[in-house]
Amino acid sequence: MSFYIDPHIHMISRITDDYQRMAYCGCVAITEPAFWAGFDRGSVEGFRDYFRHLTEYEPKRAAQFGIRHYSWLCINAKEAENVPLSRDVIAMIPEFLNKPNVLGIGEIGLNKNTKNEAIIFQEHLDLAMKSNELILIHTPHLEDKYKGTRMIIDMLKGDRRVKPERVLIDHVEEHTVRLALDGGFWCGMTLYPTTKCTPQRAVDIIEMAGTDRIMANSAGDWGKSDPMAVPEMIQEMKRRGHPESAIRKVVYNNPLTFFRQCSRWQDWPVEDSAATKKKEKVRVKGTERAIQ
Ligand SMILES: [Zn+2]
Repeated sequence: MSFYIDPHIHMISRITDDYQRMAYCGCVAITEPAFWAGFDRGSVEGFRDYFRHLTEYEPKRAAQFGIRHYSWLCINAKEAENVPLSRDVIAMIPEFLNKPNVLGIGEIGLNKNTKNEAIIFQEHLDLAMKSNELILIHTPHLEDKYKGTRMIIDMLKGDRRVKPERVLIDHVEEHTVRLALDGGFWCGMTLYPTTKCTPQRAVDIIEMAGTDRIMANSAGDWGKSDPMAVPEMIQEMKRRGHPESAIRKVVYNNPLTFFRQCSRWQDWPVEDSAATKKKEKVRVKGTERAIQ
């Protein structure tokens, strides 16, 4: 079984059985970006409760199945038209930035590529730069995707404080993957049955763009989506004869390398136990020395 990380999934909208099935398939960690609730929230308090859910409750639910849960905070681009509310939320985010499972600011980006969305994107960016946080980016769907991705990359490049290796650009497709990679950014492919990329298309993209700085996620949410999409892509890579090392790189090592840039990231028990054994050895040696 291949261990994997799902770098983008909205577990708030999934049932507990999904955690169980993901664990059975080798999921060891997930990261959950803040997103739209399906309706516009009425106040900053609604976001404060949501961020508590992401940082307090969801990690405990995931832990029951041995899955590490991390999260990202922001106000989604769909709600950016309400500029005063967006600014209140951005001002409140720092209350949560030192929670142990927070990886940074996300998923920020554009939805309809409007002026207000761009303003709020840049204000999130400013917060991320001032607080030295990683960034997770949502790129628009379908016909807005290419233009939106270009606009986002222009804004990122326009801020000299931004280090591309600390930014993950998500929902890339065949026509946007190069924009992200050539700019030095990390990128994510979203395996989604309707508007985004199928596991087969994702493997086509890997074959076209290579395995460097690329990862895949299910983006499981309230819509028709599949939390088991990453294992499905693993199967497709195996079926096409990709070596285990390439699969592991895309679904495990790449997300790990990106997320480890956040000082709050902690590796899971598999690696923790190796470290513990090392410590025990040292302690035993010390005891022996004490006895002599
Ligand atoms: Zn999402």
